[in-house]
Amino acid sequence: MNNPLIMSTDVIVIGAGNAAMCAALAAHENGATVIVLEKSPETLKGGNTTFTHGSIRFAYKDAKDIQAIIPELNDEELRNIDFGTYTESEFFDDMCRVTNYRTDIELASLLTSESFPTMKWLTSHKIKFIPIYGRQAYKVDGRFQFWGGMVLESVGGGKGLVDKLHERAQSLGIDILYESPAISLITDDQGIKGVIYKQNGITKEIHAKAVIIASGGFHANIAMRTKYLGVNWDLAHTRGSRFNTGEGIQMALDIGALSAGNWSSAHAVGGDRYLPDFEEGFQRLSYPLGIVINENGKRFLDEGEDFRNYTYAKYGKLILEQPNQAAWQIFDQKVKPLLREEYKGKKVSKVVANTLEELAEKMEGVARDAFLHEIEEYNAAVRQKIPFNPNVKDGRCTSGLSIPKSNWANTIDEGPFEAYAITCGITFTFGGLKINTKAEVQHNLYQSIPGLYAAGEVVGGLFYSNYPGGTGLMAGSVFGRIAGKNAALFTQKNINKVNV
Ligand SMILES: Cc1cc2nc3c(=O)[nH]c(=O)nc-3n(C[C@H](O)[C@H](O)[C@H](O)COP(=O)(O)OP(=O)(O)OC[C@H]3O[C@@H](n4cnc5c(N)ncnc54)[C@H](O)[C@@H]3O)c2cc1C
Repeated sequence: MNNPLIMSTDVIVIGAGNAAMCAALAAHENGATVIVLEKSPETLKGGNTTFTHGSIRFAYKDAKDIQAIIPELNDEELRNIDFGTYTESEFFDDMCRVTNYRTDIELASLLTSESFPTMKWLTSHKIKFIPIYGRQAYKVDGRFQFWGGMVLESVGGGKGLVDKLHERAQSLGIDILYESPAISLITDDQGIKGVIYKQNGITKEIHAKAVIIASGGFHANIAMRTKYLGVNWDLAHTRGSRFNTGEGIQMALDIGALSAGNWSSAHAVGGDRYLPDFEEGFQRLSYPLGIVINENGKRFLDEGEDFRNYTYAKYGKLILEQPNQAAWQIFDQKVKPLLREEYKGKKVSKVVANTLEELAEKMEGVARDAFLHEIEEYNAAVRQKIPFNPNVKDGRCTSGLSIPKSNWANTIDEGPFEAYAITCGITFTFGGLKINTKAEVQHNLYQSIPGLYAAGEVVGGLFYSNYPGGTGLMAGSVFGRIAGKNAALFTQKNINKVNV
């Protein structure tokens, strides 16, 4: 008689965000039957992926490559857009540069070389993209000029991407079980045999030849992030999915998986100081156009070190280190029209004043005189003869300051002035499981665990201290696709190499 508490399939995917759904689609197209286990209810589906703008980084040679992904872009439209170029080696160099040359070279190499083919593969699964006009391009002489190596986003943002991936999976007959958190892996001496999960409080099992863990990192687990990231990370605002609490990583570690990557660091950004955890609209990313000060009235980071999408993920940590984990972004009227969408709306914590003195009074907790002195020194240090151009690293810098502003330095002297109250918000964690280039999870005996694969945020080794914007989705898609394909092939060969 069938046991209603036990099912079986070829491949189980844990999680239903971007990495997981790419894995599920790839496993299915390589001939496997697939069941997806998702911890969240259907109404909150998609994990961190849902919270993204859907911005995705990939290598491309020219506008023709973009047209291969968006066939709807006609030649006339293309004449008004300058996508520039972003080669595989530029993407690879960015991965190395922003991680201080710590990124896993093999994984980063695969990520960059597979990025364009993976974009095409996503379109073959009916995922649609559009240019990111608003956030990654400014209009110059009537033409959109893109910058920062990231030019496309999914239609409908992260939610659109999740909806399309789920629709596609369901149309192919892939089962997604919601409110069904995976609890532990079933193993024997030959390797992975399935997953134990909970449904409506009842413990159940699915037996399978392969399991792909794609259940995100541990950014929403306050105890874990304080344990691994350290002091004050419990005080950070929590962004994105509340369900990424690290069980997927833990269940693999429990059977001897090797850990990898930067466990003491995370993607963390500056955003609204008073917004509750998990609320959308947290981030405040126009800081390259202004200055950032702490409650001592002092600047503490180079707002113009690089394009925003190469610095935003590391600056959250610096904000967390300031008194009361707080800071203020200051802008004047010259740059106000260039501020991003997120600076508008009712849920924005800001103060406005006609004079800097009045602004200083309104910024609660800020040392007034020190702030006014800092602004005076900063304004005097701006090299005004260098033209301002937000589309390129314009070299319009300060001179003589202990904390320079390297690009886009404008004096702050045209009222009304605006100050935005910010704190640190954690987006996702960088530490995770060690995989090889087949997305096979490695055992601490330095061999693959037969039948166990991982993709997305659960994987460690790609990002260290910092991260190039748009790489989270691409890493999930590239390694999800690789994991799905290899898991399906494994179920057909069912080769067992090592005891666990
Ligand atoms: C606000 C925000 C904006 C972002 N913007 C971008 C962007 O524009 N571009 C970009 O590239 N990246 C962006 N990122 C990062 C990006 O979201 C992630 O890197 C990426 O989506 C991670 O995908 P994933 O599939 O690994 O994890 P997720 O999408 O988080 O999916 C993990 C899934 O696993 C589920 N899960 C957890 N535990 C279990 C369990 N025990 N059993 C079953 N299921 C479980 C979760 O519920 C979740 O659905 C952003 C993140 C946030 C929070």
